[in-house]
Amino acid sequence: MKFCSSCVMPDTKPGIWFDERGYCNACRTKEVKAKIDWGQRLEELELIVEDIKKANHPFYDCIVPVSGGKDSWYQAAVLAEQMGLKVLCVTLAAHLPTTEGIDNLNNMIKDLNVDHMKITIKPSTFKKIRQKCFLRQGEPNWAEHCAMFSSVINTALIYEVPLVVWGEDIAFEFGGIQRSDSKPSAIAIDKSDLIKEKTVFDWLDDDVSERDIFFYKYPDYDKLEKSGVKSIYLGHFVKWYGRQNYDFVKERGFVGRRAGPLPGNFLDYDNMDEKLCEINIWFKYLKFGFWRATDQTCYDLWNDKLTREEAVKIVNDLQDEKPFNDLEDFLNFHMITREQFDETVDKFRNKDLWDFVDGEWQMKYKVS
Ligand SMILES: [Zn+2]
Repeated sequence: MKFCSSCVMPDTKPGIWFDERGYCNACRTKEVKAKIDWGQRLEELELIVEDIKKANHPFYDCIVPVSGGKDSWYQAAVLAEQMGLKVLCVTLAAHLPTTEGIDNLNNMIKDLNVDHMKITIKPSTFKKIRQKCFLRQGEPNWAEHCAMFSSVINTALIYEVPLVVWGEDIAFEFGGIQRSDSKPSAIAIDKSDLIKEKTVFDWLDDDVSERDIFFYKYPDYDKLEKSGVKSIYLGHFVKWYGRQNYDFVKERGFVGRRAGPLPGNFLDYDNMDEKLCEINIWFKYLKFGFWRATDQTCYDLWNDKLTREEAVKIVNDLQDEKPFNDLEDFLNFHMITREQFDETVDKFRNKDLWDFVDGEWQMKYKVS
């Protein structure tokens, strides 16, 4: 396992490659972003917005998918306030929200004073698909990502809303399998690194019927193009930095996790609105040898808020903490036993990266 010489990302991350300096994809993106004329990019967004305003749409100008997290709150503020669009916020309901998650979503809608629609997927379907994604792929949140992308775009089609605005393009910002320069269109978000090549049909057995998966089915690109619905990444037009989004929304009522950062986390405000996410991210540690501490220190490294030396220490201090504080909820929700959980952990633990020493598993490679 080798690590980027500029940040702390390892070469086990899918899609990563180091250049002759030993820099990873995301560190090269940092250099690309520094050269972008952000004033001109903002003008490009303003042109899209002007066209929409001229068309005088009967319902809404724009859908912003929101969780109540710092990024989506910021996104919705840009579109509703700075751009003056009539925004409909759409949330894919978290089945096990945290109190901070509930408070943030409520405060956000009050703060922005926008209409808000919540989509709650039939729990039995949601649980079964999540369970299979966990047991077969070690990635339960695949189900969330699929349902979010598809339900939001389907809502835009149904209500004839001409624009959907997502946050950042993860492949560009953080480096991933899909190599591309920053692009405005998010039409292929259903094939992003969070989804890859699978579709919801890969999870249908006798227990889930096609009748139950409307919100998981992404429409044909043809149909989308004909409908005139545009789907874009705000991060293409506005320089993206999570910590700045946090600074923006904390003045407006956003709260981080009241008990401090979750186990293994460096930040207390990142992805803490629901309880099922941490195990999903921790599985990256089993498979690829890194998870929250690496991701979160990298955000700050890419934005010159940490030194590499500080990040190395934080990663080595935090990454062996286990995200088991909501494990009972996780087992109950997925209708699995602790034994099934442990078997799945064992199945997805990459034995090339882990050694069994003195009765416990240890990561072989530490960043230095
Ligand atoms: Zn890097």
